Amino acid sequence: MNADRLPVSPIMAGIKCRCPRCGKGRLFVNGLGMRETCESCGLDYKFVDTGDGPAVFAIFILGFLCVGGVLIAEFKFGVPWWVHVLLLGVVTPFMAYFLLRFLKATLIALQFKNKAEEGRLSKE
Ligand SMILES: [Zn+2]
Repeated sequence: MNADRLPVSPIMAGIKCRCPRCGKGRLFVNGLGMRETCESCGLDYKFVDTGDGPAVFAIFILGFLCVGGVLIAEFKFGVPWWVHVLLLGVVTPFMAYFLLRFLKATLIALQFKNKAEEGRLSKE
């Protein structure tokens, strides 16, 4: 390992949405689309296979926060209907977008760090 390529924390790579190897190159293009390679170190992103993992985590986390927030807003504070529309219609999609970016980048960094891949019978 080169001295200029220190290990990158998966959480920091996830927060910054950066390359899991160098921590400098951007991971996404146009929101949630993956780049082919790292623009900084040239890491090929073909190994990336997060599947539905980020979406499942985002659904559970965001669903819990949104349903809990709506119930608290309605029954504890008695907010008018337009506050619910604002929370569910505007704030929730933004939270989903940024949560998905963070979770996808974090899972990619964890996959890279742990060398996780499909099981194989041989090393070919
Ligand atoms: Zn890189």
